[in-house]
Amino acid sequence: MITEPTPGLRAWVDGALVAWDDARVHVSAHHYGVGVFEGLRVYRTARGPAVFRLADHTARLFRSARMMGITIPWSAAELDAAQRTVIRESGLGDAYLRPFVFHDGPFGLGLHTGRLVVRTAILALPWADDGAHLDPEAGARGIRLVTSSFTRHAPTSLLAKAKANGNYMTSILALTEARAAGAEDALLLDREGFVTEASGANVFAVFGRELHTPPRESVLEGITRDTVFALAGALELEVRERRLTRDELYVADEVFLTGTAAEITRVRAIDGRAFGSGPVTERLRARYADEVRGKGTREGWLTYVAEEES
Ligand code: PMP
Repeated sequence: MITEPTPGLRAWVDGALVAWDDARVHVSAHHYGVGVFEGLRVYRTARGPAVFRLADHTARLFRSARMMGITIPWSAAELDAAQRTVIRESGLGDAYLRPFVFHDGPFGLGLHTGRLVVRTAILALPWADDGAHLDPEAGARGIRLVTSSFTRHAPTSLLAKAKANGNYMTSILALTEARAAGAEDALLLDREGFVTEASGANVFAVFGRELHTPPRESVLEGITRDTVFALAGALELEVRERRLTRDELYVADEVFLTGTAAEITRVRAIDGRAFGSGPVTERLRARYADEVRGKGTREGWLTYVAEEES
């Protein structure tokens, strides 16, 4: 999980590298939640700290911005370089990176989008305890999900495929509800009752040698989800994207979540239905752990922050 800010952290704000405490906006800043963001992991490797799938995250940031009608005043190459700089200048190893683009501007009622300015910032914090995003022991023993009373936004109410700030209100409500019910995360259905994803992670069900996951139309297109697609073949697993119902998940052999922060997290129970051990999940977890730390077989997924750009 991310830790408290530590001394010496640097933030990047609109092109300037500043001390963590100096990365500020005025309280009058536009506060309707119009903005887009990304979350990336940085891992210690034998070649120094490396960002996992940097270009893919930056590409999604630009797609989210386009969906929201926000023009990012930087190029992808500039933001990639800035993210590496923040990690390097903050002296970070295992870390979490958060680039975000948001509307700032004069206080006013309503949206006043014409008067708003676009601001861009990058924060990074140290990351401690692998696999501990949702629960200190989550990596080893798995987490519990409960089906949420909140449904994932319909494509007609929000631009649900954008990683946009305001979209996370539903996630926050669902997660709070799940925690109150004694679970670590929520399982959100769509308005027809089909499974979509967890509050901040995609979901997979294991049936024999097949991995079933909801189609991309109904979820945020997770980069870890895509990583699992890419790794499955080497483990002789087949991936199927299809609509899943909650009862199908109850009778799956295994269920797991995928996300940059969650990595690959075993689900040990859904709505009180417990699962046995998770051997397929364990193999994927091990494979993923190798890839993110530069011990895998895939080329091009890691950007080494200390090395010259090629
Ligand atoms: N769904 C939601 C709603 C998320 O917030 C995230 C985290 N970004 C994911 C899925 C997983 O995406 P990724 O693997 O790219 O982190």
